[in-house]
Amino acid sequence: MPIESFSILIDGQWRASADGSTFRCTSPFNGEDWAEVPTATTADVDAAVAAARRAFEEGPWSSSTPLARAGLLRRLGDLITQSATELATVQVRENGKLIREVADQAKALANHCYFFAGVAESPIGETLATSVPNMQAFTMREPIGVVALITPWNSPLMLLMAKLAPALAAGCTVVVKPSEVTPVSTLVFARLIKEAGFPDGVVNVVTGAGETGATLVAHPGVDKISFTGSTSVGKQIAAKAAARLARVSLELGGKSPNIVFPDADLDNAVNGVMAGIFAATGQTCMAGSRVLVHDDIYDDFAKALATRASQIRLGDPSDPASEMGTVACRAQYDKVLRYIDIAKAEGAVLAAGGKRPDDPALEKGLFVEPTVFTEVTNDMRIAREEVFGPVASLIRFRDEDDAVRIANDTSFGLAAGVWTRDIALAHRMIRRLRAGTVWINNYRKVNYVAPFGGFKESGIGRENGIHAVNEYTEVKSAWIDTGNTIK
Ligand code: NAD
Repeated sequence: MPIESFSILIDGQWRASADGSTFRCTSPFNGEDWAEVPTATTADVDAAVAAARRAFEEGPWSSSTPLARAGLLRRLGDLITQSATELATVQVRENGKLIREVADQAKALANHCYFFAGVAESPIGETLATSVPNMQAFTMREPIGVVALITPWNSPLMLLMAKLAPALAAGCTVVVKPSEVTPVSTLVFARLIKEAGFPDGVVNVVTGAGETGATLVAHPGVDKISFTGSTSVGKQIAAKAAARLARVSLELGGKSPNIVFPDADLDNAVNGVMAGIFAATGQTCMAGSRVLVHDDIYDDFAKALATRASQIRLGDPSDPASEMGTVACRAQYDKVLRYIDIAKAEGAVLAAGGKRPDDPALEKGLFVEPTVFTEVTNDMRIAREEVFGPVASLIRFRDEDDAVRIANDTSFGLAAGVWTRDIALAHRMIRRLRAGTVWINNYRKVNYVAPFGGFKESGIGRENGIHAVNEYTEVKSAWIDTGNTIK
């Protein structure tokens, strides 16, 4: 297959990088290089930030009405709907996600546009009753300015849209830096930005590895960084941003507990635990990687889960019949296998998977069997560190207090699941779990209306929901003297 070449988008123009340098994208399914993408240099980042600054300061974006911004977002939503198949297939190609998972996700991107178009048309401010006589005070929200949107590879377009739609609704201009593993989907998506008619410079896309991201983060022309990725990179970004007090939002990693009580519908719980850890080949921030199971049902549950895990059909991610795809890139594949070795060395018991599949049809792909470890304790590295792969760790608990103690004994706090038919227990668990999202009798549900983000080292700020737009605004207080009180 010929290699396709792509360009970056700066100030409405498709360009090569300033020095002509490029890198290649490799299919995780067949190991072949299939795309060539510019490596943006410092000069490219400067040009992209300058374009975003001009579009913000001089307009037309800064002087656009909420109605105009909402109109463009709705138009973008319509174009996404028309191009959903292409947006899905390019993501399958670049990161090995299943077409049956990504197809609906690509269509749903349009909903973010429609929802935040509505939010753009509903500016929020407050009239204040101050204790100062003859004074009228009120607040308004103004766009922060130029925002860097830095995204990871696991769900490139959904994670981009969670930032882009509220940023544009707020009136910010942006420079997007997608992951070097999955840059093409963002560049294909950027064609729709142009087609929708967003003014030049409002959305710019630069591609490259972490260095390009670091250049953006350090750039004095960037007012805010909205980052989704690993906790270690998130901490570096927070430290760098702090040096010049740039604003940050961070959506980071997790080690989320999925807790099964003995009164749960156990078939349902097995399904939910499977979806929690094996969907997207375990490469989701919210993966339910610590499966906490009550002592009374532990052995039966472990057996059922291991049996079901070993029946999952691995295959070509573009085949709708495949039930699990590949790991996205070689470095991540090596990391997953390394953690499987670590778990074995720590004394965890391998109950399913734990290696590459033997199937010769899959030998070129970065496949790892769905893996289940039992007899994991919460102090093991496999229970404390994010693997970001299809590896479930089953941990025993005695009672509610024990479950809460183990669940909260982590540096992360992104999500948690609870399986029970006891409504009072469910409500208590929602309050007691230190996580940004808690699901009862379900797992991995997200939606543009529901705020998503982390406690503790899982992040700062929230995406989705009407308040997500506030992450891209500054609050201004205005005072009007109604009584000529200065004499
Ligand atoms: P990563 O941190 O390695 O990279 C994320 C992005 O940051 C990429 O675009 C990368 O090029 C860039 N980057 C790398 N070093 C940088 C630096 N020093 N300065 C600026 N940018 C830099 O993460 P990844 O491996 O692409 O993604 C997986 C991680 O993302 C996991 O930890 C996962 O939990 C997390 N994640 C979190 C959420 C969430 O919503 N909380 C969602 C998806 C993924």
